[in-house]
Amino acid sequence: MRLRHIPGAEEAIASSPYVVQEPKKKKGCWDQVFGNSHPIEIEVGMGKGRFIMEQALSHPETNYIGIERYSSVLLKGLQKRAHLDLENIYFLCIDARDLADIFGPGEVSRIYLNFSDPWPKDRHAKRRLTSPAFLSVYEKILSPQGQVEFKTDNQDLFDYSLESIPSSGWEILSLTRDLHKSPMVLGNVMTEYEMKFSALGKPICKLTARPLSRI
Ligand code: SAM
Repeated sequence: MRLRHIPGAEEAIASSPYVVQEPKKKKGCWDQVFGNSHPIEIEVGMGKGRFIMEQALSHPETNYIGIERYSSVLLKGLQKRAHLDLENIYFLCIDARDLADIFGPGEVSRIYLNFSDPWPKDRHAKRRLTSPAFLSVYEKILSPQGQVEFKTDNQDLFDYSLESIPSSGWEILSLTRDLHKSPMVLGNVMTEYEMKFSALGKPICKLTARPLSRI
């Protein structure tokens, strides 16, 4: 994602009613934030948030939290959010490394990783959102039936994830290297990046996985 600093973005996020401030204080009590005990699903690296807002509109019985570490990117999502009538979505401006300080054990039902930055250089592998370090964070917050859903156009990142996920003690439940021509496309909601890459004719890879420790 091309990043441009937007003056005033931090201030807009700090005063937005859609962004949970000081989210570490909500650990273990996200039900109270939403005012119900519906399952909570999060998207890590939501970008401008098309996917998670569409999900929230189609599934009022589920609570959603969009996570984005850059304020200038999140701001674009918040501008979109302001035009929608939704009660089941909030946003966090945080680094996903901190997720286990923000959610209690089992508090999250599903984690979406959509078109995560590939970080192609080996020395940056730890920054990939499907690296063992991130998977161990997800394992701490996922519910017993919880899963990760991961989509990417990047074959190298997909290949890396097909190794890092099982070697971290997770089970891959389903996978395709051409989502839009696969039965896994049922119910698929396109992200901004997915629309861009599929318009260029690039096949989209998808997998779902869960930690084996939960079985
Ligand atoms: N998911 C969106 C989509 O599919 O259109 C955006 C994809 S964009 C390539 C990846 C986004 O993930 C960027 O906005 C980036 O800032 C965010 N991101 C990457 N690493 C992150 C992290 N550790 N914590 C939170 N957000 C992160």
